[in-house]
Order: sequence, then C-alpha cells, then structure tokens
Amino acid sequence: MAFDFQSYIKKMKIKPSTRVSLKKFRTDFKDIKLSKSVGATILQDGIKKLARLQDKLYAHDEYSVLIVLQAMDAAGKDSVIKHVMSGLNPQGVKVTSFKVPTSAELDHDFFWRHYIALPSRGEIGIFNRSHYENVLVTKIHPEFILSEKLPKIKTLKDINDKFWEERYKQINRFEKNLAENGTIILKFFLHLSKGEQKKRFIERIDDPSKNWKFSMGDLKERERWDDYQEAYEQMITKTSTEYAPWYIVPADDKWFTRVAIAGIIDMEFQKLNFTYPEVTREQKAELLNAKRTLEREK
Ligand code: ATP
Ligand code: MG
Repeated sequence: MAFDFQSYIKKMKIKPSTRVSLKKFRTDFKDIKLSKSVGATILQDGIKKLARLQDKLYAHDEYSVLIVLQAMDAAGKDSVIKHVMSGLNPQGVKVTSFKVPTSAELDHDFFWRHYIALPSRGEIGIFNRSHYENVLVTKIHPEFILSEKLPKIKTLKDINDKFWEERYKQINRFEKNLAENGTIILKFFLHLSKGEQKKRFIERIDDPSKNWKFSMGDLKERERWDDYQEAYEQMITKTSTEYAPWYIVPADDKWFTRVAIAGIIDMEFQKLNFTYPEVTREQKAELLNAKRTLEREK
C-alpha cells in the first residue's frame, strides 16, 4: 500500500487541551519510509499549490494567513522560510524576525510589535520567532519580564505560575480576536534533538561561511535545554486551540521539515476551499463591454 503522507502529517497537529510531552514526539521520521525523491515531489507540489492559493487569497482581500515558527537554535526556521515560501509572490508575503526587544518596543505591551507586523488582508505573514518568546526565553530568564515594566510585577517573586497562566490566556485571546477577524493562524514547533543541535553548532563553527550564525550565547541557552523543552511543552499545551493550532514537526532532517510544513499548510488551505471571487452579472457585462472596446481599437 502506498505510504499515506496525509495521515502521517495530520498526527502532528495538537488537539486543544492535549497535555504535551515532547519526549513522546519524534524528532526524526525513522518510523516511515519516505525517499528523498518522493519527498521532493511532495514539496514541489505543495509549493505550487501554495502559490495558487496565495493568488486566490490576494484576489479575495478578505482573509490573511499568519504562520508562526518557533524552535530551539539551529532547528531550521530560516531554511523553511527560504524553501517552502520560494514559490510565493514576494508582493504578498511579509516575513518578520523577532529579536531581543528594543527600548521602544519595551515601552509598549508585548503584543504591540507583533501586532504591527501582522499580514494585511490578502497577505501571508511569517513570524520567525514571535510573541511566544514572551513565554519561552522570558521563562528561562525571568529578568527580561522585569524590563517589560509591567504594573504589579516588581520583583522576580511576582513572576509566578499565575503570571504565566495569565500570559497564556492573553495569547489565546489575542489569537482568537485575530482569527475572528479573518486571520488564519498556523503555528509550527520545529522539534530538534539535542544531539542534532550539537552537530549543527559544530558545523557552524567548522564552516567559515556559517561562522556568523554561531554565537557564544547559543551555547549558554543550550545549557538550559531541559528548561526550554519544558517551557515549550507548557506553551503548546496551553495555547493549541481550534482557531490557532500548534503542529510539532520533526526537525532533525531539514528536508523532511520542509516537506512536512509544506504538506500541512497545503492540507489546511484545502479545507478552506478557496475559489476566486465571483463577479456579478452586471460586472460580467461590464467586462465584456471593456473587451469589445479593446477589440475595436485600431
Ligand atoms: P538562528 O536560529 O539562525 O540563530 P535566531 O532566530 O536565533 O536565528 P538570533 O538573532 O540568533 O536569531 O536570536 C534572536 C534572539 O532574540 C533569540 O535568542 C531570542 O530568544 C531573542 N528574543 C526574541 N524575542 C525576545 C523577547 N521577547 N524577549 C527576549 N528575547 C527575545
Ligand atoms: Mg540564534
């Protein structure tokens, strides 16, 4: 029987209220047989379909799509953006990478910089890191929260479980509002193993063309690997919803990550059953009139 790729990627979607334990999710795809050539076909097919969908999305000017990418360092976010989005019309795509917030950003609530980076109607927006950093890196380094200048949060003691619960709720509310107003949200966690991260870091050190990608800070964060995994588990458990689901995608093989993400985006878009906007009878008559005018031109 032919390998059922659709059923395989469907399992990567996290149903609301699932208690996620990352150890139970694979970082590779060794449980299936998928050759690189079949993978390449799926990817190319996905990219073509995505381009066609983008065209319809743009024509409708009603919905927007937000793709959120979160992962440990070197998990391949950049490579997903480069390959999976390669078939898209740059005019309708907006990629934003979120780094350590600036002082101007810290003068607003943490959603602000993400809000202004959202895709317009008809556009596809990609967040390379996102508002989720505010329950990830800030959980590992709560001193970052103090620089957010929040009322009633004055010492590290104020940053307790209740604080995080509230923050997950705020994120869910934020995304629900967006979804209700026409933003389709898909969130991907690129699930990398600690061993594969080590390999990629060493490559970044050994290969002079990749040296710029490595920083000593990356090594420091790696020391907190288990804490990060726990923060990711809680984040996914608390914020995978009907209107903004998380997908946990194996990230130890970069090409497989791209194939899986292209497949998932394609699968979700098909459900929307997008068509080109229909024209009214009057508009059709006008179009025919315009055509006749053009044809009469000398
Ligand atoms: P690569 O995977 O290629 O290293 P990157 O996304 O890690 O790319 P960097 O410039 O290396 O890009 O890192 C951005 C840094 O900004 C990350 O360490 C991230 O945790 C941090 N960051 C992002 N958002 C926040 C935030 N809200 N508060 C504090 N730090 C943040
Ligand atoms: Mg980095």
